[in-house]
Amino acid sequence: MTSFDLKGKVAIVTGGNGGIGLGMARGLADAGANIVVAARDAAKSQAAVADLSKRGVRAIAVATDVTDAASVKSLVAATVKEFGRVDILVNNAGINIRNPAHEMSLEDWHKVMETNLTSAFLCAQAVHGEMKKAGGGKIINIGSMLSIFGTAYAPAYGASKGGVVQFTKSIAVAWAPDNIQANAVLPGWIDTELTRRARQQVPPLNENVLRRTPANRWGTMDDMAGVAVFLASPASDFVTGAAIPVDGGFSALA
Ligand code: NDP
Repeated sequence: MTSFDLKGKVAIVTGGNGGIGLGMARGLADAGANIVVAARDAAKSQAAVADLSKRGVRAIAVATDVTDAASVKSLVAATVKEFGRVDILVNNAGINIRNPAHEMSLEDWHKVMETNLTSAFLCAQAVHGEMKKAGGGKIINIGSMLSIFGTAYAPAYGASKGGVVQFTKSIAVAWAPDNIQANAVLPGWIDTELTRRARQQVPPLNENVLRRTPANRWGTMDDMAGVAVFLASPASDFVTGAAIPVDGGFSALA
């Protein structure tokens, strides 16, 4: 089977230094892609690069703030300088600030929207020309169960993740003639730093997640690798504009 082969491809993974981003980056590396880890924390990014380099591919870290257009442009320039091309973009960087809408500051609203949604626009726009030049590309945007459902404590997060799905559809349609496929992945509850913080802030969360998830467990970083490889590879060449849950059945349960 060769259609999952990513040998010689170059993938930028935002927030690739931990959690879901690193889980996806490991999958892409195992399938043969060289990886660019784009995040802010240099120590964490270097550790991720060491991890990925052991998988027989080249990996580099480029210090990036995905909310900053100039930083995103430098990321793409550094990638092209090092590897000569960009084939795959994973828009994974994200944050949550928990507050009901009547208590959320405008500053926090903007921070979440810029990190989760505007970043996807900036990064996709910045790689578009390079993907076109390469004859095509793959964009994977990370949504959430809150792309579908609502919760009282995440107005900006939910709005940003709903927006990620609609933005994905827009570029899927616009860039289909350029042979660029864009899809969203909607993770269920995955055990990462982000959700470990949430578990501390909301004590019954662990039990609630287990009760509500038909698979009766949290997802892991490893659970995110397969979908990334599929959506980054020729196996998904006729899949575009989709939003694929990876959630242990969470979104299937009424
Ligand atoms: P983590 O907190 O472990 O990872 C978040 C990543 O985003 C980090 O690598 C962080 O790196 C990076 N990041 C945050 N802000 C910026 C920024 N301004 N510029 C560049 N990088 C940034 O969380 P997860 O792995 O859990 O989350 C990853 C994605 O998956 C997010 O989009 C999240 O919303 C989504 N998600 C997670 C779920 C879960 O259950 N865990 C469920 C559904 C969706 P650094 O701090 O070094 O910049």
